[in-house]
Amino acid sequence: MVFEALRNWRRRRVLANAAIPEPLWREALEMLPFLAIYTEDELEELRELCVLFLDAKGIIGARGHQVTPLQRVAIALQACVLVLNLDLALYDGFENIVVYPDEFVPGWEWEDEAGVVHRMDEPLAGEAMPRGPVILSWPDVVAAADWESAGMNLVVHEFAHKIDMQTGDANGCPPLPAEMSAKEWTAVLGAAYDDFAARVDREERTAIDPYAAESPGEFFAVLSEVFFCEPALLRHEYPQVYEQFRRFYRQDPAARAELLLDPL
Ligand SMILES: [Zn+2]
Repeated sequence: MVFEALRNWRRRRVLANAAIPEPLWREALEMLPFLAIYTEDELEELRELCVLFLDAKGIIGARGHQVTPLQRVAIALQACVLVLNLDLALYDGFENIVVYPDEFVPGWEWEDEAGVVHRMDEPLAGEAMPRGPVILSWPDVVAAADWESAGMNLVVHEFAHKIDMQTGDANGCPPLPAEMSAKEWTAVLGAAYDDFAARVDREERTAIDPYAAESPGEFFAVLSEVFFCEPALLRHEYPQVYEQFRRFYRQDPAARAELLLDPL
């Protein structure tokens, strides 16, 4: 309990010392139209989470990139929306978010079964390293901030990988709460993944980014983007996945989006 008290004390101290100024907060929210479904109370909670997140993590520019206060808040907001009703501890185990001025070539190497070493030299917009930083290209964060035009959200994607990695590899099995069944999660996600991969294989045009067919880990990250940014689409395409996500993230964004369209 001493630990708990210490944690609360620390939390209060951080919140008191590092508030996000109102104009900066509003500017960051305006960049991110998908957050319009949240109530003022929830946005206040999100703001506190952002302050704690920014206290715990470094957001560092690389290759000459200068990180502005707006960039810090915009990145924190999108990372924190995933854990709004969960625990910031889901982002424990790494220190930094590294921001590049453009796409970057990761340059990591891996060995295939035949012992041949390959080098990853495709430029990337973002990457979540296991036990390492999240890497983001700032122009790609900006392009993906508006779901309506981009149909993707880079920051939500990479932080979904980070949550997934709390249980090891990014394999689509995040740490589930005790009241959820891992067996059910695996069955539902596995069936949806097989279905989606088959649709992509036969070159069907899908409303969900075909990149989700890459692996179960990418499926979880891409569908998390859809869950937060276009929830009605996920509920329509894979209602059982939506239900698992609703229970896992403890949010029901599709119900919110409906209320917004059709206020009572
Ligand atoms: Zn990914």
